[in-house]
Amino acid sequence: MTTTPETNSHIPLKVLDHTELFKDEVYTKQFETKREFENGADDAEVNRVLEWTRTWEYREKNFAREALTVNPAKACQPLGAVLAAIGFEGTLPIVHGSQGCVAYFRSHFARHFKEPVPAASTSMTEDAAVFGGINNLVESFANATALYKPKHIAVSTTCMAEVIGEDLFAYIRTARDQEAITQDYPVSYAHTPSFVGSHLNGYDVMVKGILDMVTELPEAKKAPETGGKPQLNVFPGFETYLGNLREYRRMLELLGVSPLILGDHSDALDSPANGEYDLYPGGTKLADAATAKHSKASVVLQESTMRRTAELVRDKWKQETVVLETPIGIRGTDQFVKEIARLSGQPVPAELTLERGRLVDALADSHAYLHGKRVAIAGDPDLVIALTRFVLECGMVPVHLVSTNADSSFKARMEKVLSASKFGDAATVWPEKDLWHLRSLVFTEPVDLLIGSTYLKYISREANVPLVRVGFPIFDRHHLHRQATIGYTGGLNLLTQLVNTMLDELDRSSLPHSFDAVR
Ligand code: SF4
Repeated sequence: MTTTPETNSHIPLKVLDHTELFKDEVYTKQFETKREFENGADDAEVNRVLEWTRTWEYREKNFAREALTVNPAKACQPLGAVLAAIGFEGTLPIVHGSQGCVAYFRSHFARHFKEPVPAASTSMTEDAAVFGGINNLVESFANATALYKPKHIAVSTTCMAEVIGEDLFAYIRTARDQEAITQDYPVSYAHTPSFVGSHLNGYDVMVKGILDMVTELPEAKKAPETGGKPQLNVFPGFETYLGNLREYRRMLELLGVSPLILGDHSDALDSPANGEYDLYPGGTKLADAATAKHSKASVVLQESTMRRTAELVRDKWKQETVVLETPIGIRGTDQFVKEIARLSGQPVPAELTLERGRLVDALADSHAYLHGKRVAIAGDPDLVIALTRFVLECGMVPVHLVSTNADSSFKARMEKVLSASKFGDAATVWPEKDLWHLRSLVFTEPVDLLIGSTYLKYISREANVPLVRVGFPIFDRHHLHRQATIGYTGGLNLLTQLVNTMLDELDRSSLPHSFDAVR
């Protein structure tokens, strides 16, 4: 039933994927029996309710709900803190809380990046939840430094630790006093309560925590060695496209600056299979990060994500802080290039001008297939804003723009983007709405294309609308996270995804006389 044989056979053992396996009669019968046992509603009733959930009447009820979130497009704060930590050299993220939380963070990242993610837990259980988890934290420091030998520990907290008011500053001091770690061992920390905010806030406060720590290191007194080029701090934010981190570096170097990317997890989450396992590949060097205060300026590329860090740099360090929309598409990238050229005092290199021209040419080539297509976009606020600007450049019509973890400023920023294009009139902007809201929107006001994470595939299948996977997480397609989506070259990658999805759809729905070889 499930395998081909067997002993002494040259035919390899074939283990059926569950897609095929559960088509077997044994299982289909089991499903029927289970249904009978559960005594649920009959098919006609299920279909009646299903159809009703696709109506305007249901949409109004759905949008009236206040105290319930269904299928939110966001994760919790410590998940962001873990990503922030692994962007720095030799860093072990430790999450103060129960093991299950860290198991979730590790599996979530492993499914997206297809890489193992080092992260440890202080393993709080019932007794720690009642009496406090100081012993867990002290012991975890001793064990983690002995076993995994990190250069730096970055601690964040889970819901449970925050509910009982755990004090990381005091606990870390106790760990030093009890000699679990030495007095000068580098430890950064951030309180990341998961019942407020999202992974973006967790990322932000952990980066801020790391900057607070590294800028106290002895190396912070030294000016960076950049061979005369101006050093710029670059805050990419919660960046899940490793190709973007590499593309930022390439563009910045072309523009004549020495980029200090805070933090850079591109190697940590894309390490080669060379027969050796390195627990901490890559990451921004702590000694380099320590020089961040000496940089000429800081460039923030995810406004919604990096607010606390931007405050630190602007208000405490008194450093010029340039906050840009994520540079996706022509206008976004133009703005980025212009600002960096201003900061570096160098002209825009011919190579970038050439790449820009190629993207403009490609947009013209694909225009006929994208023009006027109605699109819904969901995801993190900075990404949704940048993607909206790009689809407008493609002549597409954004209709539903949903971001569960956006706040009220999202509408104002989006308004600016939409009003700059004549294709922006049909758009409705939905901060703090979830994917169950998006489902109602798509059924009542249909679109031609969905753009967002893997979680949108359920709406895509049910509403029969193609999905272009952009954002986080992408669990069900491989290697998209390795490519760039920012810059002119990233724009070309996104355009390729968009137009080819529309062309697949065109081929799928064509009548025989229109099933052409040339598109
Ligand atoms: S929401 Fe709370 S319990 Fe759930 S994974 Fe995040 S920290 Fe853990």
